[in-house]
Amino acid sequence: MQLVLVVNSGSSSMKFQLIDIPNEKKLVRGLVEKIGMENSSYRIIAGNQIEEKQIEVKDHRQAVEIALDYLTHRSPVHLNSLSDIDGVGHRVVQGGSTFDKAAFVTPEVKEKIREYGIMAPLHNYANLAGIEACEALMPGIPQVVVFDTTFHQTMAPEVYHYGIPYKYYEKYRVRRYGAHGTSHKYVSEKAIEFLGVQAKGTKMIVCHLGNGSSITAIKDGKVVDTSMGFTPLEGLMMGTRSGDIDPAAVMFLMEQEHLTPKEMDEILNKKSGLLGVSGISNDMRELEDAMTCGNKRAELAHKMFIYRIKKTIGSYVAALNGLDVLVFTAGIGENNDYVREMICQDMDFFGIKLDAKINHGMDHLAEIGEKGAPVRILVVPTDEEMEIAKETEELVLSRSK
Ligand code: AMP
Repeated sequence: MQLVLVVNSGSSSMKFQLIDIPNEKKLVRGLVEKIGMENSSYRIIAGNQIEEKQIEVKDHRQAVEIALDYLTHRSPVHLNSLSDIDGVGHRVVQGGSTFDKAAFVTPEVKEKIREYGIMAPLHNYANLAGIEACEALMPGIPQVVVFDTTFHQTMAPEVYHYGIPYKYYEKYRVRRYGAHGTSHKYVSEKAIEFLGVQAKGTKMIVCHLGNGSSITAIKDGKVVDTSMGFTPLEGLMMGTRSGDIDPAAVMFLMEQEHLTPKEMDEILNKKSGLLGVSGISNDMRELEDAMTCGNKRAELAHKMFIYRIKKTIGSYVAALNGLDVLVFTAGIGENNDYVREMICQDMDFFGIKLDAKINHGMDHLAEIGEKGAPVRILVVPTDEEMEIAKETEELVLSRSK
């Protein structure tokens, strides 16, 4: 059995999964929450066995210790020692333009992750804390980093540059990088496999619609464009993020409200989007509940969410010069048939025709488009951890060959 441990460290949390790669099976899943805060706790699930505890967790190192102690002592999946684990795959959010594939952890790689932390301060430093904890506690076990930005590295310069003085790209590397790349890669490859077609020659649009949302245009298995940019704030309107907004409106608000850059950042990232417009919730289910009770602002937020997705799909049909496959994934994309129906409404000009009956209630890997329509429409559940595990295993195996 080839086993990969996938680690996803956030600023105050650490998620991990032990995955049996050849069988694509999740053996153990765990979450350590509120690291460094009061009320920290963990929950680990293996089959029908659940272990949960309120326990002080000071830092990421202790979180990794909890995971490893469970895996080597109490897990129903028996490990003789940590060396039964073939590799550890770490999720890293921002890999800048340096990384076009997964990489082994080295001092140079860690330095780059630290350097790019300026673009993803909430994520990269926490990712690094998880990496360093695993390095210290699992000596000799290959540590691999898989970046959210890697899949988007195929975008052309005219797609990723902003129309600002070029010196800011040279000085600070300000450009579009995209995000959710691991999800877009996994989902697009699953779609190709499910349809039994070749990536080469296939034009696909993947809509990753969750609390964070992004859309990617893919041709020949390579990203042509993606809606997120320098940070995950660009593009669609999301749960709490504004998405695209005229930068002049941002400066105007800062002046009028005497806001610091940090305060404005907080408004655009945490208080905008579905939550900001509706004043109710960032959660699509709660928003739709409010709509059924006649709440007009909830309805407006919902319509804005849909409209921007339709507009982005339209622009990507232009970027791809056509479309063969449209895919929905993530929390909303996988579970919300109404949102899918609204997005696909009046899109027949593009050959997008949903089968309302099949779409209804669909929440697993399936084709939901009308038979014979020019564009095939799919629901494909995403699995970022599986993708990280696969890329980790590939890299580890390539070294041992
Ligand atoms: P994510 O960020 O991918 O976890 O997605 C979160 C969003 O997905 C929220 O707006 C939820 O309302 C929506 N969502 C998640 N699970 C479901 C579900 N089972 N049914 C309907 N909506 C869901």
